[in-house]
Amino acid sequence: MRPGAHWKLVLQTILLALVSPGSRVKHAAMRPDGHMDASPTRALLLAFGHPVVDQYLACRVRAAQIASIARLTPLTVFANVVNVVVVLPVLAQALPFAYVIAWVVAAMSLMALTTIKWFLSSRSPIELASHRALNAAVRHATFLSLLWAVVPVAAFMSGNVNAIWIASCVTTGMICGGGFALATVPQAAFRWVAILYAATVVALVIDQSVMMWPLLVLLTSYTFVVIGSTTAAGWLFASHFLAEAELEKNGDLIALLLNEFEETSSDWIWETSSTGNFRNVSDRFLHASGRTRPELHSMRMVDLAYSLDSEDARAQVAGLEEAISLQKSFREIVIGLAVNGDERWWSIAARPVYDDHGSFTGYRGVASDITEARRAEKLVTHLAEHDSLTGIGNRSWFLNQAEDLLAEQVKGGQNTLTLFLIDLDNFKVVNDTSGHPAGDELLRQVADRFTAISEGRTSLARFGGDEFAALGRFVSDQAASAFAEELVNVARKPFRIGNRDFAIGATVGFTRLRGAGDTVDDLMRNADIALYKAKESGRGRALAFESAMEREVRERRELEADLREAFEFGKLSVEFQPIVNARSGKVISSEVLVRWFHPTRGEVTPDTFLPIAEHAGLILPLGNWVLRKACAAAAQCPDLESVAVNLSAVQFMDPNLVSQITTVLDETGFPPERLVLEITESVFLRDSGAAPEKLKKLRNLGIKISLDDFGTGYSSLSYLRKYKFDKIKIDKTFVDEIGERSDGLAIISAVIALAHNLGLEVTAEGVERRFQVDALRTLGCDTLQGYFFGKPSANPMHIMQAASEDWDAQEQEPVPDGDDDTQKASAAVSAN
Ligand code: C2E
Ligand code: CA
Ligand code: CA
Repeated sequence: MRPGAHWKLVLQTILLALVSPGSRVKHAAMRPDGHMDASPTRALLLAFGHPVVDQYLACRVRAAQIASIARLTPLTVFANVVNVVVVLPVLAQALPFAYVIAWVVAAMSLMALTTIKWFLSSRSPIELASHRALNAAVRHATFLSLLWAVVPVAAFMSGNVNAIWIASCVTTGMICGGGFALATVPQAAFRWVAILYAATVVALVIDQSVMMWPLLVLLTSYTFVVIGSTTAAGWLFASHFLAEAELEKNGDLIALLLNEFEETSSDWIWETSSTGNFRNVSDRFLHASGRTRPELHSMRMVDLAYSLDSEDARAQVAGLEEAISLQKSFREIVIGLAVNGDERWWSIAARPVYDDHGSFTGYRGVASDITEARRAEKLVTHLAEHDSLTGIGNRSWFLNQAEDLLAEQVKGGQNTLTLFLIDLDNFKVVNDTSGHPAGDELLRQVADRFTAISEGRTSLARFGGDEFAALGRFVSDQAASAFAEELVNVARKPFRIGNRDFAIGATVGFTRLRGAGDTVDDLMRNADIALYKAKESGRGRALAFESAMEREVRERRELEADLREAFEFGKLSVEFQPIVNARSGKVISSEVLVRWFHPTRGEVTPDTFLPIAEHAGLILPLGNWVLRKACAAAAQCPDLESVAVNLSAVQFMDPNLVSQITTVLDETGFPPERLVLEITESVFLRDSGAAPEKLKKLRNLGIKISLDDFGTGYSSLSYLRKYKFDKIKIDKTFVDEIGERSDGLAIISAVIALAHNLGLEVTAEGVERRFQVDALRTLGCDTLQGYFFGKPSANPMHIMQAASEDWDAQEQEPVPDGDDDTQKASAAVSAN
């Protein structure tokens, strides 16, 4: 209560209430709509009848004010009657008899009227009162006080000491008693007090015999105390009333909001008794739970949570049970439950409720059905974590799993974690020969087989293309190795797609966690190194990572840097190896071979550094450079019919290949008819469909295409039919078998016959010995190449002369072990 802070307003109000009860104070706190901001002031103004609240509330306040005075009516009537009786002798002495009668009649009829009013109102209490009703009450009090004002004036006029004594006591009592009785209607109380005070002052002034000043001071001070107290009581009364109204209004608002909430949102309120059973079940709750009200009344939230028999539905039930058993509040607990046989998910929150005595009466909270949101979320996570083609995990999911498992192992001081990388062999062949739908189907079947053996042992994922990965705990190297072998074996069995069987296979590289220092990146890199080595040493097998491999990889990286530098600084060179006509013995062509002399390692073979160049993205400029060198050199040797240049698969896949070659031919002035390009089968394994078109373009330019290393890949014959070539080069391994294996010659003979049948020219590579030359010539081989005729040499002119000169001599002169070789050759040819 701080009406003191608004003393000006209080004073103003009081004065106005005394002078003119109907008028109103203007105050800044009062808004144009009659509402006040500051509630203490508001209560005060309300007590004095100012319209600071809405009409309805004002009516109710007035009714309450009147009712609170009315409640005291029996007491006030009794006090008045007693006082009338007591003051009668005083009045009888001081006033003429008729006046006394008139006074008594007036006082008593007022009492009678008051009693009747009270009697009526107590039978039907009023709830609303108009301004007029309140003014009537004020008038009533004013009139009564005027009656009592007669008493002191009459007594003091009479001068009788006894009368003065009685009148003084009665008036003082009246000021105090009436003031307090009328406190809830300050306007009335003020009038009452003011009138009696004024009458007493008049009386004191009339009778000069009494000590006027001390009595006046006393009277004034009492009056002030009564006025102050009355103001406070009136203010308190209005404050309570306002607070109550506010509460009531808020209560209505809450109820309104709750209704709204229940009707519009997907959430609902739930409540339990102290035993945990649901109570006051709303319609929405009923609907959401799919149960009947009596059913719910006999259930608890955990009973609902246990209605769905699935593991993740119960994941948070333990938390719920614990919170409930400790009577703690909880939020965002997700439970799964069965609703009419359907799986639904609710997010629930609640707090415990206590009664006035502080004892627990149950829970009250909200629940929302989050099933749809959860489904959508699950779908999104599934899409983000799974490979859409095979349904198994994808790379990012796999790496997350790996991080989690690794953290777990590090924490538990274990190192059983093993990572497998799996590459399918020959997958491309299926894709190429039977189309992408078949390829997709194959990947699905592979995933199914891997899943079947991984179940419960490893997490499986597809990284894209034909790469898979698995991750699991294996107690020993043997166990890990056995699983890797299983992966290889399961992929080895043929796959049936449509009505065809496909034999593919898989190569696996794997690594086990070595120590706490290993990261997922380390595992991935090591498994990749092992996979690389496994592929290198002939696919279709599993290989565990070893530290030595790492060294190799490091060296490889160093070599890569060196190669880049060597190429940039022009440290590479080319050599020419003669290819001779098998009939005339003349050098008719030359194969160009790239060379790298490393400052510390010495000669590095192309077989070593070319894969590195491919990996480092150097092969295109390097190949172009070789081609330019070859064409430029061959252009200077008009006797050389052609020059053969090797093309790696990566070069062949370059979409700009044809234009690059034509540019080089144009710039060097070398005719395309004299260029032979040697390609191997690896080109077709990597081809995505452009190869036949490219071959056709090159051949249309007049360039010849030679299939190198013929016989080393297993599907060579099918490629011969599918793609158009000009030549084939029989690999050195077959030439080596002449005279060593009984069927060596038979194979070469068959290949030559087949090639000729297809209109292809045949070159034999790696011819080192005389009997090989003889045998190959006898079998009708067209051209020969090998150390027998000359090693690769830096000078193209030199190789031409040397080989041409030597040919006839070699045929006549027996070479040192010539006898043996001649016998071997003739034996081989006659055996054929
Ligand atoms: P290739 O095309 O089969 O080349 C023939 C390889 O056999 C060459 O090895 C050659 O030096 C070697 N050789 C020739 N005659 C004999 C012989 O009588 N006995 C023995 N033991 N070997 C003989 P090199 O130069 O080490 O090349 C290896 C492979 O590197 C080549 O095999 C070719 O595929 C590739 N290569 C070489 N130079 C280039 C090039 O400039 N570009 C591309 N893309 N590949 C090249
Ligand atoms: Ca070659
Ligand atoms: Ca070759």
